[in-house]
Formats: sequence, structure tokens, C-alpha cells
Amino acid sequence: MSAARADRLAALLRERELDAVLVTDPTNLRYVTGFTGTNGLALVGAERRVFVTDFRYVDQSAAEVPDFDRIRGTRDLLPDVAEHLGGRVGFDDAHLSVRTHRRLEELAGEGVELVPAGGLVEGLRAVKDTDELRSIREAAALADDVYEHLCARGLVGRTEREVAHDLEHTMRERGAEGPSFPTIVAAGAHGALPHASPRLEPIEPSTLVIVDMGCVLDGYCSDCTRTFATGPLSELAAAVYEVVLEAQRAALEAVRPGVGGAGADAVARELITAAGHGERFGHGLGHGVGLEVHERPRLSPTSDDELVAGNVVTVEPGVYVSGELGVRIEDLVAVTADGADVLSGFPKTLVTVG
Ligand code: ZN
Ligand code: ZN
Repeated sequence: MSAARADRLAALLRERELDAVLVTDPTNLRYVTGFTGTNGLALVGAERRVFVTDFRYVDQSAAEVPDFDRIRGTRDLLPDVAEHLGGRVGFDDAHLSVRTHRRLEELAGEGVELVPAGGLVEGLRAVKDTDELRSIREAAALADDVYEHLCARGLVGRTEREVAHDLEHTMRERGAEGPSFPTIVAAGAHGALPHASPRLEPIEPSTLVIVDMGCVLDGYCSDCTRTFATGPLSELAAAVYEVVLEAQRAALEAVRPGVGGAGADAVARELITAAGHGERFGHGLGHGVGLEVHERPRLSPTSDDELVAGNVVTVEPGVYVSGELGVRIEDLVAVTADGADVLSGFPKTLVTVG
């Protein structure tokens, strides 16, 4: 697995006129090498595959990084990798600190040119292979199960925080490594904050409750939002739900290779705007999901990304009526050769949970 990914990275070097690239960000390092520890570096060139870690990870890296020449370095790894640098070496300017960069420059000395090359690995990560798709699909199915648990357990009278803890506990019990981000449970007017953190307030009957959660399985994330009713709703709440659902379905239909992140966003945004809620959809339509819960590509009015087969993205329009309510419906989808495969299976028509 990691051999193929390192080869794909090496293939990008020629067009960037680089002799090698230094992989330092832990998520990128995991993607390229398979290493899951916290201290490591990799150098990938046309023929070179060098991996450096400290004594704590020698055994682990022998198992996880078999395709690289492994070096046992000191705790700070930089002098150990510096010896192997030569020519034009790309580094991750989006993640490497100025201090580390300066130190690397000193250690590398003459004959080495450090070239900003952030985003190379992230670009590869945006297109998932079969193994990655399987992990993400399983993480999404696990989240579906946790939503079933939520329905059986109920919402009214429990606090947002208790519900959130219960959901995270349940996903772990069923095999998840943990939540892919802190679970959001936001009832009533609190749902008008897109990133609400769960409160100690009990959930009322006849209100809307946004639940946004995902779990991590094999290192891969899922992400899914459902908005539940806790009893008969006001006309406004019911109407907003229908608008968001219609926008979500229309945007899903639009997801396919060749569509821009801005174009997909516009499909949902136009419907929401036509219903008079344009100003109340304050975030982008979606984001890529993989080893991280927010990665490339982005679906938003300002996105330059274009969807390709193998992308895994969320489609999550929302309408937030300040002081009253919020509705968000989010599916996780894999872009296929001719459309999209929806990985989130829990129903989207309004579900009432007492
Ligand atoms: Zn989400
Ligand atoms: Zn999301």
C-alpha cells in the first residue's frame, strides 16, 4: 500500500523540478509510509525511500514501514535526515515551523535548496484508493448504527451533553477508535450556531435537534448530520426542514466528476436563497473527508477545486435562524466515475424522537 503511494508522490517530483520531498506532517507521513507513531520523517525521491524515527518506534516502524530504508535517529530527527538531502528538496511550507525550517537549512548546508512544496501529499490524499474507501464506508455505517441507538434511547429530557457523551461512548463500544471531532448536539435556538458545543440544558419536546457526528475507523473519519424533531413542530421549523432537505438532495444529484466545488455549492444555495433563507446558510456546502475530517476538496462559493472520481466529500447545507432554530442535513458521499455513491444510510426524511 505505502509503496504505491510513495511512487505516486515520487511521480509528482519531476513536474515540480524537485529531486526529493521531505514529508513531515504526521497525517501526510501516515498516508505516504503507513507509520502511525508521533515522531518520524520521510524523504521520497525518484529512487529514494528514507524513513527516520527515534528509538521508541524502531519495532513499530519495522512492521508499518517495510518499503522504506529505515534509520534510527535522535529524538529530533533533523540532523539524521539532513545527511541525506541533496539538490532541490521540497518541504511542507504549510506545516513546517519557521524555526524548524531555519534549522534544516543550517544542517543541510551547501548544495541543498529547500523549496516550498506544501499540498503535494494533500493532493494525493484527495483521491481515495479502494482500501481507503472501504474504511470510510465502514466508518459511515458505524455512525448510522449510532443514530439508530440514539432513536431507541430518546432525546427529550436528556441534556445535550449527556446525549453527546452517550453517542461517543456507543461508537467506541461498537469498534470506533473514537469520534472524528467533538460530537455536536444542539437543540432549539442553540441549533442556530453551526458549531454549537453541547450544553447541560435538557432537550425540550417539540423542537429541532441538530446532531453532527462521525467516527474514526482504521484511521479514517466519517461525518454525518441529522436534524431530529422531538414532537410536532412549528410551521417555520417544518418549512425550514423541507427547504434544507430539498437543497441537500439537489446538491447530491449534482455531485459527479467535472463539477466544481463552487458549482455544487451553488445548486443548494440557489434553492435556499429562492426560499428566502440565503443569508441563513453561512457556511460552505461541504468538505473532503479521509484521514482528517476536513481535507480536500472544498465545496463552497470560493472553492477552485473540481471533483474527480475517488473524492470523498460531505454535502451539508444548513439554515440557521438566529434565536430560533437550525437545520443541517449532511451526507458523506464518494464521487464515482459517473455520479456519487452516498455512504450515509440513516433516513433523511424528518424523524421524530421523543
Ligand atoms: Zn459534520
Ligand atoms: Zn462536515
